[in-house]
Amino acid sequence: MSDGLVKPIAHASGSESSTTRMATRSVVIVGGGIIGTMSAYYLNRAGWRVTVLDKGTIGGGCSHGNCGYVCPSHVLPLAVPGALTSTLKTLFAKNSPLKVRPGFAVRNLGWFLNFARRCNRRSMLRTATGIQALLDSSRRLYDELLEAEKLEVEWDTYGLLFAFQTEKAFEHYAETDRLLSDSFAMPARRFDAQAMQKLEPALKPGSVAGGYLYTGDAQLKPDLLMVALRKLLAGRGVTFVEHAEMNEFATEGGKAVAVKSNAGDHRADAFLVATGAWTPQLTSHLGGKCPIIPGKGYSITMKRPKVCPTYPMIFEEHRVAVSPFATGFRIGSTMEFAGYDATLNRSRLQLLRDGASHYLNDTDAPAFEEWWGWRPMTFDGLPIIGRSARHENVLTAAGHGMLGLSMATGTGKLVKELLGGETTHIPAEPYSAGRF
Ligand SMILES: Cc1cc2nc3c(=O)[nH]c(=O)nc-3n(C[C@H](O)[C@H](O)[C@H](O)COP(=O)(O)OP(=O)(O)OC[C@H]3O[C@@H](n4cnc5c(N)ncnc54)[C@H](O)[C@@H]3O)c2cc1C
Repeated sequence: MSDGLVKPIAHASGSESSTTRMATRSVVIVGGGIIGTMSAYYLNRAGWRVTVLDKGTIGGGCSHGNCGYVCPSHVLPLAVPGALTSTLKTLFAKNSPLKVRPGFAVRNLGWFLNFARRCNRRSMLRTATGIQALLDSSRRLYDELLEAEKLEVEWDTYGLLFAFQTEKAFEHYAETDRLLSDSFAMPARRFDAQAMQKLEPALKPGSVAGGYLYTGDAQLKPDLLMVALRKLLAGRGVTFVEHAEMNEFATEGGKAVAVKSNAGDHRADAFLVATGAWTPQLTSHLGGKCPIIPGKGYSITMKRPKVCPTYPMIFEEHRVAVSPFATGFRIGSTMEFAGYDATLNRSRLQLLRDGASHYLNDTDAPAFEEWWGWRPMTFDGLPIIGRSARHENVLTAAGHGMLGLSMATGTGKLVKELLGGETTHIPAEPYSAGRF
């Protein structure tokens, strides 16, 4: 399980002739989202000298306004049997939460065909094993991180409640629940309509046919996590450089020696590229394939409703997720495959409010924040965490799709292990950049 990139450097100093100590190794991380920043945390703790560069602001990308779920329940990839038919149906539905711009689909046909090829049980189960390893390790590591560092991130562990409007959808989900329970040891608690109302009185009477509660899931406020991590790491000597866009690597003898950015060159022993949905734009500097496309999602944050839900909830039929934070209330989701389109489409935000209004009151309060982000989507649903094909001392960690927050701690630890040449705490092969 070991794939060491930079070997620990041991040397004897004159005055310490009999003592061998480790020289400080340095790493530059490109991309200050949750993946880059969490990797910085584990590398800093392991004694690396760490610099994080971002072309915008730290935590200003997809890691800012997401729903905040840390959800080991999300074991299954998007590519499951039947996903193609249901996707095609929603594409033609008015106001569908899933949108694919035809021109974009044509330009990225390979990605969509590869996704389609994986919509079978065998692929789903194989992929899910890799997803689960990273989700489970991350969930445990979040407990350790928050206990050790006392970060103020509005962490709560009520679990995640999947709510179904119709009897048909509720009954249909029973099959998924059995699969999660039998094959992935991920049992949920099942509630009928009456029990749901008792469990979550914020639900409009009669709005749901039933639901499933995943008690191992948790929630935090993602922007607070980014701020807290940055503050913690800056206090421990990590350097953050904003508005520094990586253009290429400077190389010597086939090895990367510096990141060349519009804010100057940054030299180091090793490099981590954690640039989320933008990673394909750096493929020519990384080598190999990088099948990541942006999957745009939206969120809207407002004041807490008068009767605010206790549980984070996903309204399955409307594909809307709600996050009740201590300091606000967020409605998020939708998936748009439209390339690097950076416009804020208000009709998508209205779709979120309308979806949530079937189940909850007060979903029309003025917004504190309207937001969109590009999820870094791979077609197989697994992130890419591994050595670059071009430079032996460059690692990529990107492509975490809909689960980057949930997988961040496990990814950070894995990155630290891979860069340090250690035995990894989970098998690293499923995430290898060479699998495509
Ligand atoms: C609506 C929505 C809801 C979501 N909800 C959840 C959830 O509840 N739970 C969950 O686990 N996940 C969720 N996600 C997914 C999650 O937000 C992402 O998987 C995660 O944020 C990806 O993190 P990242 O660090 O890879 O990317 P980002 O946060 O996008 O960071 C990448 C950074 O790289 C920088 N960059 C790019 N190119 C360069 C360059 N050349 N030079 C320098 N810097 C560069 C960018 O500026 C950016 O800051 C959600 C996503 C959306 C859109």
